[in-house]
Amino acid sequence: MIVDPALLAMRARATFASDHRVAALVRPGSVTQVQACMRIAASQRIPVYPVSSGRNWGYGSSLPASDGNAIIDLSRMNAILEINPRLAYATIEPGVTQRQLMQALQDITPALWLDATGSSPDCSIIGNTVERGFGHTPYGDHFGHACALQVVLPDGRLVETGFGQFPGAAATPVYRWGVGPAIDGLFTQSNLGIVTRMTVWLMPEPAYFQAFFLRARESALEPMVDALRTLRLEGSLRSSIHLVNAFKVISSDGRFPWGLADGTGRLPEEATRQLIARWGCQAWNGSGALYGSRAQVAASRRRVLELLRPVATELRFLDDRTIGIAGRLRTPYKWFTGVDLAQAMALVKPVYELMKGIPTSRMLASTYWRKREIPDEFDPDRDRCGLIWVNAVAPADPVQVRRMVTIVETVFRKHPFEPAMSMTLRTERAVDNIISITYDRDRDGEDERAMACHDELLSALMDEGFYPYRLGVQSMALAAQRRDPSARELIDRLKHALDPHGTLAPGRYAG
Ligand SMILES: Cc1cc2nc3c(=O)[nH]c(=O)nc-3n(C[C@H](O)[C@H](O)[C@H](O)COP(=O)(O)OP(=O)(O)OC[C@H]3O[C@@H](n4cnc5c(N)ncnc54)[C@H](O)[C@@H]3O)c2cc1C
Repeated sequence: MIVDPALLAMRARATFASDHRVAALVRPGSVTQVQACMRIAASQRIPVYPVSSGRNWGYGSSLPASDGNAIIDLSRMNAILEINPRLAYATIEPGVTQRQLMQALQDITPALWLDATGSSPDCSIIGNTVERGFGHTPYGDHFGHACALQVVLPDGRLVETGFGQFPGAAATPVYRWGVGPAIDGLFTQSNLGIVTRMTVWLMPEPAYFQAFFLRARESALEPMVDALRTLRLEGSLRSSIHLVNAFKVISSDGRFPWGLADGTGRLPEEATRQLIARWGCQAWNGSGALYGSRAQVAASRRRVLELLRPVATELRFLDDRTIGIAGRLRTPYKWFTGVDLAQAMALVKPVYELMKGIPTSRMLASTYWRKREIPDEFDPDRDRCGLIWVNAVAPADPVQVRRMVTIVETVFRKHPFEPAMSMTLRTERAVDNIISITYDRDRDGEDERAMACHDELLSALMDEGFYPYRLGVQSMALAAQRRDPSARELIDRLKHALDPHGTLAPGRYAG
């Protein structure tokens, strides 16, 4: 157990201010040790908070949801227990990172792809999945592609979910429901157990992959949502599609133009125009990909062209061959066109690779947008980058999506930050808007200003019916108040039955 105040203070850091202290840190190396931790915590009434890799940036990093918790850091439990090439799954422990599983797949069975998030390659796969996070391939719904959880309950007992509850059940890693009540959902976005093992399904590499990138004017948002929903519903597009606004693009490499700052804290209009011109972006900038045989991709591409060309100002397709050519043509391209292809490729290539499940740390540069310096190795907590996510889900309906965007823009007009939005068609029917409030924690008063923006934005979105798909520790209380009393009571009863003294992660999604 670690109680060194300096180390504990490091674990209490996040990308926003909080007065939660960390009382101790334990790093169990096995399930039996996690069980022992939970028994001690229950008998001594010590609140404990599990993290798998603790890189939950913008949602709290490894910061517990309440004060005075001991962190149970599961990163030492990092065994890949099985990779099954034929049935395309891996069974892993919580410390297994995106980088680690990708490397293992490349060594053992390169024809299987991981689905990666845009966060660091060193993030835990289980940490993200229990938050119901998402990635960028057709397997992007992480919890939707996971099963067979092993869970330590708050009293130290062990349970398995799905068919794992039945001794010798042959289909445990391949069939999520088992038979009888499905209980695995209880252990995501909750404080009812610690997940110590999970099976994640892997995507077979398609015979052919083609990505597309589009740009569109502000007024094209509504027809674009209609077109994208149609493409998703009919199956022409199988993965999440992203639409990011111009602020998201220009803040992606973390270089606020301080030379043009006007003292208001906002990005001046002229600087915005210059950055938009430099990046060559539009009001909305989209990316998506096609996966399948050459014939399947060609058929989907025809539909994408048919529906998106009339609404986009630009629509380009890229595959491995064209990406390679672009890499070789960087210098001559700039001579002839004046456009910095290297800069464009620096942004496009990581997005392209993410759509093939290859994790990157490149996106973390965006957390340095308001910092004056960017280090070689990113660590937003250490470098006091300010980042607060607010997210909201809307039906994939043009009127609703426009309403959601208008709320975001209206709230940001009152606060000195850029409304950077990244909208993802997560399913055939739902759009998730991930809004970042990015700032410099070293500037006086900025933590308070950013949290005021968060509070107002989250409340305004919920007032209009747009609720978040996931909460950070900064948002738990605001969102919890809104839950219907009967649902709240049911969750409280479950919590009390499993954890009568409330020692596991108090305040995390529930009491
Ligand atoms: C630039 C940038 C891009 C990002 N892109 C994405 C993205 O594309 N998709 C996305 O989903 N997120 C994204 N994120 C957000 C975040 O960084 C990731 O979701 C990340 O995977 C979460 O951190 P982690 O994996 O270290 O999980 P952890 O911090 O280990 O876990 C997250 C939470 O889950 C709970 N938990 C963890 N492990 C367990 C367990 N074993 N049992 C029970 N509860 C547990 C904990 O309470 C913890 O607070 C991004 C962040 C940044 C800064």
